[in-house]
Amino acid sequence: MCGIVGYIGTKDAREIIFNGLKKLEYRGYDSAGVALVNKNKIEIYKDKGRVNHLEEITDFSFNTNFGIGHTRWATHGKPNMINSHPHFSNNKRFVVVHNGVIENYKKLKIEKLADYDFYSETDTEVIANLIEHYSSDMSTIDAIRKTASILEGSYALLVMDMMDLDTLYVAKNKTPLLIGKSEHGITVASDSMALVGYADSYMYLNDLRFAIIKKDRVILKDILGFDLDFEMQDLKLTNLDIAKGNYEHYMLKEIDEQPGVIRNLIDKYFVDEEVNIDSEILSKIRLADRIYIVACGTSLYAGTVSKYFFERLCKIPVELCIASEVAYNMPLLSKNPYFIFISQSGETADCITVLKKCKKRNLHTLAITNSLNSSIDHLADDVLHIFAGKEIAVASTKAYIAQIVVLSIIAKGVANNRKTNLKNNLSKVALAIEDVFNNKNLIKEVAKKIVNAKDAFYIGRGIDYYVCQEAALKLKEISYIHTEGYASGELKHGSIALIEEGTPVIAICTNEETNMITRSNLIETVSRGALGIVISTESLSQTSDDIVISDVASYLTPLVSIVVCQLIAYYVSVLKGNDVDKPKNLAKSVTVE
Ligand code: GLU
Repeated sequence: MCGIVGYIGTKDAREIIFNGLKKLEYRGYDSAGVALVNKNKIEIYKDKGRVNHLEEITDFSFNTNFGIGHTRWATHGKPNMINSHPHFSNNKRFVVVHNGVIENYKKLKIEKLADYDFYSETDTEVIANLIEHYSSDMSTIDAIRKTASILEGSYALLVMDMMDLDTLYVAKNKTPLLIGKSEHGITVASDSMALVGYADSYMYLNDLRFAIIKKDRVILKDILGFDLDFEMQDLKLTNLDIAKGNYEHYMLKEIDEQPGVIRNLIDKYFVDEEVNIDSEILSKIRLADRIYIVACGTSLYAGTVSKYFFERLCKIPVELCIASEVAYNMPLLSKNPYFIFISQSGETADCITVLKKCKKRNLHTLAITNSLNSSIDHLADDVLHIFAGKEIAVASTKAYIAQIVVLSIIAKGVANNRKTNLKNNLSKVALAIEDVFNNKNLIKEVAKKIVNAKDAFYIGRGIDYYVCQEAALKLKEISYIHTEGYASGELKHGSIALIEEGTPVIAICTNEETNMITRSNLIETVSRGALGIVISTESLSQTSDDIVISDVASYLTPLVSIVVCQLIAYYVSVLKGNDVDKPKNLAKSVTVE
């Protein structure tokens, strides 16, 4: 969500900041701004809208080697020019960009900053003015630390000080921030993507860490002001890893990458036929009497599919927990609970809140993420990565598939069941997804049929219902069609009232036991005017079915049927002329609660 890029060195700061901000665009934002040092002044350019627009309104005529940039995803105050970052402190000595939310900003305004004027509606201006307030009798870094000690909430913060235009100050709590180093200078960013091309090595900042950055060195401090040792890691990400190639949209590229992602995971997590996961992790899960899966959005729906694996294969009950709900409403726990957190970015604030609560209670925690070195990686007892590669489209596709694959492998490892040949079955899934790609024209026809719908339904039972939830989310996210993922038998208990002439109802029928009954439920809606569409498997298909997928092991059908639904959502979004990769109001990694 939102992004920060700062640079101090010998190269053109504007170029590095603009390129970095563009690479962070996928995270979602509504306004953008930069502060650039021009000789002994700081020039600020900012406005609502895209980074391209910011580029148009920025002066490119002067040389600058030091600056900070920001993309804002408004949390406090409308997206407009005044609320855009950077923000000055009252006396214009300090300039600040901030990602995150300061929860006690109102209280701080009243208690500490009664004499200060505020120009924006943001919580961020409080930070700039607190630093000014404390700087009267202490160094800038001490004023930042002092400010941080009374802030409640999250922040990735870059600060420029008019009195010292050779230093960039950095602070971090609960919102990601990385420091990248190269021969020509130091780049700071909220995501490693923005460092690509500008840093050879990087360090991930931990919470409540502060840095004083000069063009050739970094001094790292803790909240008490003590210097800390640190190590930089090599930056392995390249421009190739984040390129769109010949694709018009990242989303389609990422959908197409899914068979490769599955094959890669087979390589990583199997040695011959044996599951290759730390045996300690598997033993801890075996001892659990209940698994609690904590996640949000698509990751939650991946977790939902895994309920089927853990309950059927391992005989361990699974409780799905919406992270933002359990954060303040923890369920009554079993005797030996085991927590699995699923987060693509590893930075999901709602998950982090729950994870911290679990740690306080000494509960076992496992994180499943796509981001090495993310906050969740650092916090959880154990981590398994999904190795999906960078996912840039806001609507998640390959991460969902990869999460389900990893969860299925964990379940197999826990069950230690030699009957299911998961490795072989997953290889067949990869082939079946490639078969789906051969049917893209048929899927486009389905998209054309539903493009003008106001509402739509995905219906199914059991494991198909779990897919319906993710399928509906996909269609909502990028086509803006209101869509429900419904248990097909539940429709008649209320929501069938919403069926109108032409309302698309898409039935997913991949399960032998429920196939016919789901089809009956679909006919009930068609009798009331719905436009019925069926996605089925070869062995259960009927001649009138719209999309038929290849047969795979029944418990793995979600991995194939969802690809059809991803493509339906994609083509509807393209037909509508929507911004497929950056849908409105959404952010890629949701770093606020
Ligand atoms: N809370 C700040 C604001 O609304 C920062 C938002 C962000 O993280 O971009 O301006």
